[in-house]
Amino acid sequence: MKKTFLVFLIVLGLVFSTVLATTYVVGTSADFPPFEYVQNGKYVGFDLGLIKAIAKTEGFNIQIRDMAFDSLIPALKVGVIDIAIAGMTITKEREKVVDFSNPYWFADQDVIVRKNSNYTVTVLFGKHKIGVQTGTTGDLWVTKNLVKSGILKASNVKRYQSFIYALEALLNGAINAVVLDSPVAERFAQVKPVKVVAVLVTGEHYGIAVRKGNTKLLREINAGLKKVKASGEMAKLIDKYFGKK
Ligand code: GLN
Repeated sequence: MKKTFLVFLIVLGLVFSTVLATTYVVGTSADFPPFEYVQNGKYVGFDLGLIKAIAKTEGFNIQIRDMAFDSLIPALKVGVIDIAIAGMTITKEREKVVDFSNPYWFADQDVIVRKNSNYTVTVLFGKHKIGVQTGTTGDLWVTKNLVKSGILKASNVKRYQSFIYALEALLNGAINAVVLDSPVAERFAQVKPVKVVAVLVTGEHYGIAVRKGNTKLLREINAGLKKVKASGEMAKLIDKYFGKK
């Protein structure tokens, strides 16, 4: 009898802790393999595995919300989402409007072209059409270094809401190259008929973003990040999403 009561209490405790745990809405942009993408109708990827592991150690629940990359910061600001994880580079400009966790990944920018083309890095110069994802650091790099310096006409920069569309445009010949984060370019080069022809060393670090001033959540995320690294869970995720297949 006593034992049954104890079991009952434990079950009750578990139910309550799950029900009472805060649920945070996590915004992502699921077009960025291996960080976030859709597989068999499910949102998967390194970032999502990471935030799930952090949520588990810190005792909160999460709900994933997919949106265009350039909607993530506005969505955070107005409270539609609580956390943004999307291979997001920590930049000075973004730090003015959101708070970032400690860095968890690094990237440069790569230039990709169709596999069967003869383009080299010079694809960036001249009359070619260059695709980027709106509002990304790739977009910023092209705008700052090619357009503002007069190397590329502004009308030759083609902006896409999603890398899925940028890739499609590259493959069907609507554009000549795409500038995007190196880890994602490398993954696309493994699974699509595209190749990397140049690395633009930008030295970026990815962070998890929260609303400015949400120090409680930021502290939980940083604490979780540390634990997930120390427990070996991070290494498992790296192996799962970046290991040789
Ligand atoms: N790291 C880049 C940025 O923060 C691209 C991110 C993305 O497209 N998901 O702008």
